[in-house]
Amino acid sequence: MIPITLRVGQRTFNIVFAEIDTLLPDGTFLSLGYYDDIETITIASSLGNTMTKIVLCHEIFEAINSHVGSGLKHNQIQGVANCMLDIMCDNPDIVQYLFKGGMDEQELQARTGMDRQEEQIQQAVCKQGGETHKRRSKS
Ligand SMILES: [Zn+2]
Repeated sequence: MIPITLRVGQRTFNIVFAEIDTLLPDGTFLSLGYYDDIETITIASSLGNTMTKIVLCHEIFEAINSHVGSGLKHNQIQGVANCMLDIMCDNPDIVQYLFKGGMDEQELQARTGMDRQEEQIQQAVCKQGGETHKRRSKS
């Protein structure tokens, strides 16, 4: 089942499938999919499973690029998106861990010396783009 929405930051994109034969004013022909700033990701309905995943992943990175204003060029987006999809497909345990896994309170304490409250503070700092490599001194 293909999800019908994607959250990127505070925005929700609808994922739709359509016959695509759009010719842009600059002469670019879009045949696989596209992302637009009115919060729709459109994917060619004629694509099979693998190509749909590749195109969806690409458009997700287009949305991320727009959201964070990273200014990546199209070929850079293409490279990062394809690599990320490969990593996710080749490492299902990592994906599972990132999305659903985690240490219980005891393992967290033993590994890091942190309790849940300290962990939440660290998460908040990381989400704001703070220093993630800083070592916590144990006292
Ligand atoms: Zn693109």
